[in-house]
Amino acid sequence: MFFTTKRPFERYGVMRRAKPTNSSIVRYALIPLLLALIYNNCNLVVTSYQPPNIEDQTKEPDIAMYFIVIHNEPLPDPAFSELTLEKSYETLVEIVSQADQYNQKLTLMFTAQWVDGVFSNSSRKAQLETWKANGHEIAAHHHEITHSLWDGYTNTSREKALSTRTTIRSDGFIETYLGTMRDYINKLKTLNPDIQSGCLNGDTDPNVLVDEIIYSTCTDFGNSGTSGQRVRDRDPKKGINEFVGVGTINGIERRYLSHAQVSNSDLRAQAEEIYESLDADVAYGVVAHSIEENLGTGDLEEAQNLMEFMKFLHEKDPNGLRSRTVSGLIQSNALPEIKASTKSH
Ligand SMILES: [Zn+2]
Repeated sequence: MFFTTKRPFERYGVMRRAKPTNSSIVRYALIPLLLALIYNNCNLVVTSYQPPNIEDQTKEPDIAMYFIVIHNEPLPDPAFSELTLEKSYETLVEIVSQADQYNQKLTLMFTAQWVDGVFSNSSRKAQLETWKANGHEIAAHHHEITHSLWDGYTNTSREKALSTRTTIRSDGFIETYLGTMRDYINKLKTLNPDIQSGCLNGDTDPNVLVDEIIYSTCTDFGNSGTSGQRVRDRDPKKGINEFVGVGTINGIERRYLSHAQVSNSDLRAQAEEIYESLDADVAYGVVAHSIEENLGTGDLEEAQNLMEFMKFLHEKDPNGLRSRTVSGLIQSNALPEIKASTKSH
């Protein structure tokens, strides 16, 4: 009984599988077709999908690292009456804008004159914050009493500073004494409370160098070949940094890089030639003023030459991946450290 009642169902089941209806034939026939279509579609997607080549955009090219320093001068000065802080600021805006376009990170070194003369304006201060956020470093620049354009700050007494200036300036103009180097750096700290890099035109002079500036780019010494070799400021080889110099001044350990001027077309061409000859484990540093003219020479377009050099770097490094700030380069430990000469010049 059990078997007789079960068998029809079993048979029924077999019969259902053995003799499908017309509609189920269509359904079953469609399944492989659909699977084939899905498979082909997937194949189509897989073969035609081109993932973005992320590696190429983040892989640093096998060329030397570089850093770009801008000196923002203490203006106005009667010796260069055609130069104003306002014009210099406009030039700086152009330089930073080009750097942003190239993803190059600048080290912007300001004299204290820029604090009140430019960045007291709230929208310009906000712009400076944007520059910082974009990766540019805000650093210090100083002209000591021995410089042709003194910025008014010194640790030398007011009387001695002013008498020194009378022997240096031939046009009878004497700059105003504005304060000590402590006053100077406190002013700059309103732009960057963590300021640590700079060029103080006396970077190995214990009487000039302030405690805050632990990364410096202005010594008389080069950073390639043998440590302690004096290299002229306008020698394009001064831009070669095979190592970071380390020395102690006023009881504080400081680190030094060196940079070359690219302020005219000759210097720029030489800098480009040297840069192309460097290995990838070396850094090349350049410096220019945020001015259109070469101070004291009458040559035009100092900033223009810098921007041409930036364009040259951009062609070598389209994504700016080998660009460094002064602090960034030193802190990356990409260069070996060598005991530096800190003899005053
Ligand atoms: Zn300067």
